[in-house]
Amino acid sequence: MTSREWRGDRRAVFERDEYTCRNCGATGGDEEPTTVRTYPVGDVPLEGTVHESSLVTVCSRCFTALQESDALSGLSADRDDLFRLVRDTTRTQGATISDVASFASLVTSLPTALAETDADDDGPRDHASEYVETRQDVLLAIDVVDARLDRLRAVETAELDPEVASPLETVSETATTLQSDLREVVDLGETVVSGLDRCYGCFVPLEESAGNGSGTCGTCGLEPRATDDWHRSEGDGVAFERLFSSINDRLRGTSTTTEALTDRTMALAETLLEE
Ligand SMILES: [Zn+2]
Ligand SMILES: [Zn+2]
Repeated sequence: MTSREWRGDRRAVFERDEYTCRNCGATGGDEEPTTVRTYPVGDVPLEGTVHESSLVTVCSRCFTALQESDALSGLSADRDDLFRLVRDTTRTQGATISDVASFASLVTSLPTALAETDADDDGPRDHASEYVETRQDVLLAIDVVDARLDRLRAVETAELDPEVASPLETVSETATTLQSDLREVVDLGETVVSGLDRCYGCFVPLEESAGNGSGTCGTCGLEPRATDDWHRSEGDGVAFERLFSSINDRLRGTSTTTEALTDRTMALAETLLEE
C-alpha cells in the first residue's frame, strides 16, 4: 500500500465519524496540521476516488502505523520491547476475533431481517448503516493486526537467542494463519450480502445501482462476490444455510487456532520474562 491520499469525499467521511479515529478513538480536526486522515478498507480501486463506504477516519498516528509496515525490516528489539509487541499483537487480535464473530452474527441475521422489514421503509436503511459500519470496523481491525504482525516479523531474529527466536516464529506463523481464517469469515459474510443482491461494500440493492451491465455496483464500484458455489442444487437462489454453516465452521476453526496461539504466546512470554 502506498501513502497516497485516498481520494474521496473526505469531509463526508470525517463528519460521519465525527472526526474520531475509528481505531483508537482519538479526536482531531481537519485543520493543518492534519490530525485525521482517511484510510481505505477492503478492496478499493487503485485509481480515482474511493466511495465513503470504503473509507474510515483514522488519526495520523494510526495512519502511520498502518502504512509503515511494508518498509520495516531488521527491527532490533530487546526482550521487553518484544514482550510488549507480542502482548499488544495478541490483545489486538483477540479483540478482532470478537469483531469478526459479531460481523458473522450480523450477516447471518440479514436474510431474515431484510425479509421482515421489506415493507418498512426505515428498516432496510438501518440494516444498511449497521452492516456498512460493522464491516468497516472489522476490516480496519484486521489491518491493524496485520500492521502489528508485520512489526513482529520485522524483528531481527538473528540478534535473538534461539530459545526466543524459535517460539517467536511459531507465534507469528500461528497468528498469520488466524488472520487468513478471519479474512475468510469476512469474505463469506460478504458473499451472504452478494447473495441478497446487495453490494457487500455499500449495501445498495444491486438491481437499482447496476445499469452498466457488468454487475459492478453503480454506487461504490465493487464487483459482487461470486455466489456460484452456494447456489441451491435445485432451482435458483443461494443456499444460505450452507453458507452459514461454513461461516460457523470457520469461526470454530478460529477458536481452535486461538487456543493454540494462546499456549504458544504464554510460553514465549515466560521465556521473555526469564532472566
Ligand atoms: Zn488512532
Ligand atoms: Zn456498492
